[in-house]
Amino acid sequence: MDCATKSSFTLSFNTRSQIQKLPSWLKIKYVDNELTNKIESLSKNYNLHSVCQSAHCPNRSECWSQGTATFMVMGEQCTRGCRFCAVSTMSKPPPLDPNEPQNLASAVAALNLRYVVITSVARDDLEDEGAGHFAECIKALKEKQAGLLIEVLVPDFKAKKFAIKKIIEAQPDVVSHNVETVERLTRSIRDIRANYNQSLEVLRLYREMSNEKIITKSGMMVGFGESEGEIRKTMFDLRAIGVEIFTIGQYLQPTKTPRHLPVKEFVHPDVFKKYEQMGYEVGFKYMACGALVRSSYKAAEPFIEKMIVSRNR
Ligand code: SF4
Repeated sequence: MDCATKSSFTLSFNTRSQIQKLPSWLKIKYVDNELTNKIESLSKNYNLHSVCQSAHCPNRSECWSQGTATFMVMGEQCTRGCRFCAVSTMSKPPPLDPNEPQNLASAVAALNLRYVVITSVARDDLEDEGAGHFAECIKALKEKQAGLLIEVLVPDFKAKKFAIKKIIEAQPDVVSHNVETVERLTRSIRDIRANYNQSLEVLRLYREMSNEKIITKSGMMVGFGESEGEIRKTMFDLRAIGVEIFTIGQYLQPTKTPRHLPVKEFVHPDVFKKYEQMGYEVGFKYMACGALVRSSYKAAEPFIEKMIVSRNR
């Protein structure tokens, strides 16, 4: 994602040996409640994939209780193989489900969410890389529930303008696309078809082609061995193309298989605070920084809602 900063926290919380290696600020417990169970059963009934659930996101109870959830569309297999991501890889995944837009809209309406985040795997096997299907999902959500705020965490579509146009025409409120890491480490962390400058170009195009109406957002993980100076440069690069919201979270190795890079550093909470302050100094309107922060963490923050409402006037 690159779509799946969402997925990178998956298994690191799951085994005793891994838990023992985590610093104290990363030792958390999942708390499931009525709402989390409802999302799980609706996802099953409508053949949907809630990222919050499938990626075992530690923040899910908090986000869901605030009326926001993240769903992944276009299947469970990605055509790419980023080295931080838990999503499985396949060069030719099964065809798209034509019922998915309506099923998604029905599930979100049943949950009475006020803010939904939709993300997807990358589909390099499709001519428009799935942009048309993604746009249909946005349109179905809007038709079913007026007033629903929609954030999309999109793949890069290789910066194809016709694909980006399809998403813009469906009128999401926020478009998010993650740079995932600093420029120097991109080659070793992301799939070879993704790159840092292409991601910047994607974000620039969304802003330019929507006449600056769409709010753009990005995110990255730390713990790969990046320096403070490189993080600052990433912030400047994103602000230079008008990105307004930025998130930074801790990378956690999804599995011990060779595909997944080991964690180089567990970044201390005080350092995250410093990055948050740095982000505001650089000019972001909203920053979310912390070890457990993920792309859509607290996406429905009142401040972001206000930004959307004032932009739509
Ligand atoms: S492997 Fe696919 S789903 Fe995972 S981050 Fe890369 S593009 Fe996104």
